[in-house]
Amino acid sequence: MNGKVVISVAITGSVPQKSHSPAVPITPDEQIESAHAAFEAGAALVHVHVRDEHGAPSSDPERFRRVQEGVVRHCPGMIVQFSTGGRGRGLAERGAMLFLKPDMASLATGSVNFPTSVYENPPDFVEELARAMLGFEIKPEVEVFDAAMLYNATELVKAGLLRAPLHVQFVLGLKNALPARRELLEFLARELDALLPGSTWTAAGIGRHQLTVNRWSLELGGHARTGLEDNLRFDETRLATSNAELVARVATLAVEYGRAPATADEARQLLGLGQASHV
Ligand code: ZN
Repeated sequence: MNGKVVISVAITGSVPQKSHSPAVPITPDEQIESAHAAFEAGAALVHVHVRDEHGAPSSDPERFRRVQEGVVRHCPGMIVQFSTGGRGRGLAERGAMLFLKPDMASLATGSVNFPTSVYENPPDFVEELARAMLGFEIKPEVEVFDAAMLYNATELVKAGLLRAPLHVQFVLGLKNALPARRELLEFLARELDALLPGSTWTAAGIGRHQLTVNRWSLELGGHARTGLEDNLRFDETRLATSNAELVARVATLAVEYGRAPATADEARQLLGLGQASHV
């Protein structure tokens, strides 16, 4: 399965974008529909943020539950990953939906500046989230927004708070955090391999870097993330029409690099996840 690439789709995100696109799914029904179209286009993993009825970031477990149930029902085996990310949510709220036991949840292992704010992840909070994920048997996706976070994750493995092999996502091209430089991605992937052999990784390129980072990941043997959370545009000329359109582009691109999109079952095997749950 070396040639298989797990395509993740980040369908919504937490930031009401400045140049909001009507393609971004907001309600749970829209999110389920968008995840389903992305699944059909080749995505095996859906990364989920939910919004309230005004489109603002929400922590409402009921909304997470509805999306999770819809994806499990309509996209057989698709990996459901909840975001524990910041914006507009207090620390206490960010893990409030983990009791729903999604397959995976994101876990940033340190703090960093975002374009206009601080993404705050104090050490005790990171440990608390990691412990909750262990308790609910949720596999974390370690979010690396800055190099220290990779080394912090290694320490968390030593402390028994994260279970190896890890799945790590490198986020590149976000203002004030890591730049989209290929040398940097190569370095990070090498370090991960040296420190935690057997780990898997993916990378997200933010904004106009999305496609470039997808290419690097495909070439370097990583997995790939796309979706409207990271980038609203298809190219310089127009907005993307859907999450599925962005997924289809990565699926097509994979072939150029001798890769093929992993099915949901293959993705579960690659990331060391159990069988899909059923509604
Ligand atoms: Zn996210």
